[in-house]
Amino acid sequence: MAYSTEKLSEEKVFKDPVHRYIHVRDRVIWDLIGTAEFQRLRRIKQLGTTYLTFHGAEHSRFNHSLGVYEIVRRIVDDVFDGRPEWKQESRLLSLCAALLHDLGHGPFSHAFEKVFDLDHEEFTQAIILGDTEVHKILKKVDPNFPKQVAEVIAKTSENKLVVSLISSQIDADRMDYLQRDAYFTGVSYGHFDMERILRVMRPREDQVVIKQSGMHAVEDYIMSRYQMYWQVYFHPVSRSAEVILTKILHRAKDLYHEGYTFKFTPIHFQSLFLTKVELKDYLKLDEAVMMFYFQMWQEEEDLILSDLCKRFMNRNLFKYVEFDPAKEYKKQYELMTLFEKAGINPDYYLVVDSSSDLPYDFYRPGEEGERLPIHLLMKNNELKELSRQSEIVDAISGKRRTDHKLYFPADLLFDDSQHQAIKSQIRDLLDLK
Ligand code: ZN
Repeated sequence: MAYSTEKLSEEKVFKDPVHRYIHVRDRVIWDLIGTAEFQRLRRIKQLGTTYLTFHGAEHSRFNHSLGVYEIVRRIVDDVFDGRPEWKQESRLLSLCAALLHDLGHGPFSHAFEKVFDLDHEEFTQAIILGDTEVHKILKKVDPNFPKQVAEVIAKTSENKLVVSLISSQIDADRMDYLQRDAYFTGVSYGHFDMERILRVMRPREDQVVIKQSGMHAVEDYIMSRYQMYWQVYFHPVSRSAEVILTKILHRAKDLYHEGYTFKFTPIHFQSLFLTKVELKDYLKLDEAVMMFYFQMWQEEEDLILSDLCKRFMNRNLFKYVEFDPAKEYKKQYELMTLFEKAGINPDYYLVVDSSSDLPYDFYRPGEEGERLPIHLLMKNNELKELSRQSEIVDAISGKRRTDHKLYFPADLLFDDSQHQAIKSQIRDLLDLK
């Protein structure tokens, strides 16, 4: 039997709190799950520093990747199978792309990518196309198969229908993470009727469309995404932890370049500090390794590095105030000067952080890289873009909301050490009581 169609003698199931069970019958999928690169995702949390705000949010990218796979499996096997627009040869491609779509994520992705100027999508490509266990398995299907999977994930594939399953305004990725993140954080947002949405999905040559009768379920999904962004993903306390994490990595990198002698040498970071990171080094990094360094660096001679690590490990986070960098740049400059006078390095202890989201991107022709809009399939077989049919979606379409905050260690501004007069000036400027 061809490897691509080989089935396991018995179906394997993973118990899952969101989808109840995740079903695996295909040999290829089972083999991919067993690779070192896929197992690494167990050691990378789906929501980075969010567990410091919502303590339940310790779930991993491994959980999420299996979830996305299961949603796509249900769509192709239960909804699309047998429909004339669906090509059965796209099935394995869809399942593999779903399973592997987040494979290149690094530890605490956001902060990590910012400091080291990396892109997890490039690493996903490198893992699929490079000398890895994942690559060997995909190549057994067909020598060209790794490239096909990589192209679906990179959204450059000619198979637009499969791309839209994994990456569009209403894709399996978003449907899984919204529900999973809601479950693990314990918030009441993020829930929507996925069963209903799956039942009304239809394959078209170049995209997945939604039957008109499913419009209200889709509205609910878009609102839940909007709520999750502001209540969970951009939560100011998680962002505070991320600011500290970013500054730890910055400090370690700067010290390394200054020739500082670490008590605990960052051997795992060397290639990152020198911006010559190779895939094999990258794959060795996970959150367990990062946390180990943070634990050890609490004992460093460098006061900034040790202080930031203690803050992260013990959740002694920065406080924040609302801040508009465009209007308040003078105040920011004044604060920087005062921080310096007070002996608190503003490069590490005074940070502006901005978050923004588009709840639903309407269609803007010619803009590449945008996610595909949602199309409704009307009774007369015509397609209509969702925001033209739904007033609720139209009201939030394409409106970017941005939120800026200024982060700082309030505890250092209230202590009774030196520079009391300057600290009192800072407190007045920040309106701290
Ligand atoms: Zn994902």
